[in-house]
Amino acid sequence: MLIVKKFGGTSVQNAERVQNVARRIVEEYDKGNKVVVVLSAQGHTTDELIAKAKELNPKCSKRELDMLLSTGEQQSVALMAMAIHALGYPAISLNANQCPILATSTYGNARIKDIDTNRINAELDKKNIVIITGFQGINKYGDITTLGRGGSDTSAVALAATLKADLCEIFTDVDGVYTGDPRIIKNAKKLKSISYDEMLELASLGAKVLHNRSVELAKKYNVNLVVRSSLTEEEGTVVKEESLVEKMIVTGVAVDKDVARISVVGVPDIPGMAFKIFSNLSKHKVSVDIILQSIGRESSKDISFTVSKDELEPALKAMEDLKGVSYESISYDKNIAKVSIVGAGMDTNSGVASDLFEALYSSAINVNMISTSEIKISVLVEEKEAERAANAIHDKFIR
Ligand code: ASP
Ligand code: MG
Repeated sequence: MLIVKKFGGTSVQNAERVQNVARRIVEEYDKGNKVVVVLSAQGHTTDELIAKAKELNPKCSKRELDMLLSTGEQQSVALMAMAIHALGYPAISLNANQCPILATSTYGNARIKDIDTNRINAELDKKNIVIITGFQGINKYGDITTLGRGGSDTSAVALAATLKADLCEIFTDVDGVYTGDPRIIKNAKKLKSISYDEMLELASLGAKVLHNRSVELAKKYNVNLVVRSSLTEEEGTVVKEESLVEKMIVTGVAVDKDVARISVVGVPDIPGMAFKIFSNLSKHKVSVDIILQSIGRESSKDISFTVSKDELEPALKAMEDLKGVSYESISYDKNIAKVSIVGAGMDTNSGVASDLFEALYSSAINVNMISTSEIKISVLVEEKEAERAANAIHDKFIR
């Protein structure tokens, strides 16, 4: 078997952890498997490097920042190779240039375009354990780009897809994917499995266990993906195509406090208004999440939408530049949060929405805005009620 194993920053944060991971890697190797390891930077290294850069130049060049940040992963892979050598096993570390892993040019948010597997396969054929830097790629100028925070997961899945690995294991400091963030949801449970689509929704809603592009890639290339702990032998959570394995209608509850609402009140009830509002926002590079339009009354309507909190100011600025739309007033609220439920089973089960509203009603929580998709329902509530709302909803669906 060919297995890709990715270890996150906390799993390799000090010498002891590196040695622990090295032992797990050679155990796999001893079973006769080919092992490719992908690593993140140790502990808080990436944050510390960002702080160092900002200290010298708050507006530092993105190219130079990527040059700096990529060194974090390079330290990890070299140290891991040394630790494996110390156990008496063959290993070689490779960075994105040595592989090479080709990526787009957008510094700080590059995407992997292609991975040349010749060198990696040659090293595997030489019986080496191959240890590769996560989070980085080489762009068409030969420069290092990084894939965005948390991007090492995406490196691992991309490598697993390209190498046609039998398994891609993401090792982290939690033992799997939970039905909610255990720090917020009291009764959160570990899932045995979750579908790609559900995981993608949860990752996009802010569940930080997997980088969302890694899930997109895993789905596209049908990568056999498992999330598990580097500190225990527990089985972890399998992310795969099929769902409803545990016959759960709702597999996760997510809370996102990074939300602000803007309402444009008293817009003429004629065609083109929404188009003008949202094309103006997009021209100002403001990305909008939930959109709601009220039914017209006396030839006017209200259009509300949400943005992330740090885009509230830019969005309000953008509204000053709005042409061709007359309105009565603009109001906004930044003390709100989005609570969402995700589940592939919602599609075919009626009554999910009513159960959700019942849970909120029983806890006397008022709903501001609602948005639904095939496998997700999100509600906006007051920020200070968010955790109570999330627990009430969680316990209604997941027991
Ligand atoms: N080291 C990078 C970060 O902290 C990438 C990763 O850990 O996945 O964001
Ligand atoms: Mg991560």
